[in-house]
Amino acid sequence: MRGFLRAVSDQVKLALAIRSLLPPRPEDMQARADARETRFRNLLQYANENSPYYRKQFQGIDLKTCAITDLPTLTKSEMMANLDDIFTDRALRRADLERFMSDPANIGAYYKQNYAVCHTSGSQGQPAIIVQDKPAILTTFAAQFARGKPLSRRFLPHLQRLFKPARFSIITQKPGFYPSSTFFNYFPERARRFLKLQRLSVFDPPEVLVEKLNSFQPNFITGYTSALETITRELKAGRLKLRGDLEQMTNISEPLPEAIAQRVEKAFGVHITNIYSMAECMALTCGCQATHGSHLNDELAILEVVDSDNQPVPNGTPGSKVLLTNLYNMAQPIIRYEIDDIVTISPERCECGSLLPLVKAVEGRSKDQFWVDVNGEIRDLPYYVFLLALHTETNLAEHQFLQTGVNKFVLRAAPLSGRTLSAEKLRQLIQQSVTSEGFADVIHFDIEIVDRIAPEESGKIRRAKNIFGPPPSREQPAAVNES
Ligand SMILES: [Zn+2]
Repeated sequence: MRGFLRAVSDQVKLALAIRSLLPPRPEDMQARADARETRFRNLLQYANENSPYYRKQFQGIDLKTCAITDLPTLTKSEMMANLDDIFTDRALRRADLERFMSDPANIGAYYKQNYAVCHTSGSQGQPAIIVQDKPAILTTFAAQFARGKPLSRRFLPHLQRLFKPARFSIITQKPGFYPSSTFFNYFPERARRFLKLQRLSVFDPPEVLVEKLNSFQPNFITGYTSALETITRELKAGRLKLRGDLEQMTNISEPLPEAIAQRVEKAFGVHITNIYSMAECMALTCGCQATHGSHLNDELAILEVVDSDNQPVPNGTPGSKVLLTNLYNMAQPIIRYEIDDIVTISPERCECGSLLPLVKAVEGRSKDQFWVDVNGEIRDLPYYVFLLALHTETNLAEHQFLQTGVNKFVLRAAPLSGRTLSAEKLRQLIQQSVTSEGFADVIHFDIEIVDRIAPEESGKIRRAKNIFGPPPSREQPAAVNES
């Protein structure tokens, strides 16, 4: 009986949370702004009372009236060095959590019955450990259920899924303690009635992915960009056969270049939504239904787009990092946390009709920012300069751009199966694009034709990778984010 009551209570909590996060109407905006302010003050107060680290950091600051810019920032290395003191539950210890995560049998289990745990991989600096409480996990699901699908304030369709669950394929890695697995590891038992999950791995050979997708016939496919490219190739080759049930695709964890989004959409005939989130704030955004941007769930998080000195940049201008404040996870307060992502917030309201701010472009880590030396002057080189060149190359399956030295770049290109690529043609395409941007005599380019681009240890492919490093004058960005 108690189990039954708890189940009903969980169901009601999820339903209420979904209702509270349905896409806002103009008349809801003031109440939402008030709710965000209340959440923000509650977070500061809770962190101050329960986290020794924040209590020290907040000394001398009036938490009832301060502006967010009065608060200190937090880097990943500071967070990890002070983790036990950052936790608001004194029973949480980093060493215990690491032990817990070293046992694969604990995947999907709540630590001490209360906490969802994950860690980022160590391939980009040190790993970060993130602990979320149960309400935070519930919030993450509710946000996706309420806002992750075509704009509707109708509640009924959400309930109808109870009777006809959607089939949902996820292509990431095998279940583990990495961030994008967490969402599915902790899928609430009650919510499983809404969806049937199929989990696939980016490390599976394409023929295995194809066979499983063909038999499952998903309504929704979510995956890393590189995985979506792989299945697009299989679809075009006629091996992947979907029978018209597909409603939407979703890109997670890797930036989604526009050219790739368009290729995937054209092949599958559905919109591809793009979610920008990270372990530190899994409910940060939901994918836009009209563009390839992401809508900020701005009552759940504050995202400050700033330059390298933490000064705000105006909407419409890319920052060099973001400062993230998670307003819903009380277990491990994340307040003005530095993430090394180049992000642009749209200055205009989105064409889809959503009233939520639009994160228009995420260009990945500023650590991977390309740069050139033009007669002694260091200038950023946007990756799109190269990407645009590849639009017309229809035999291309995958690509990766590397900066390998001062003004030295390499394009690694893999052809579609059964096709070939001409290095000379690729060189001409890139030369045209580079020339039109005024870099004709500055950049030296090498082309490598390869069979495939190897994913990182995390299973993702980095499209733009600076293996040389930042210009000598520029300091290394402080924090690195992964999901
Ligand atoms: Zn939109």
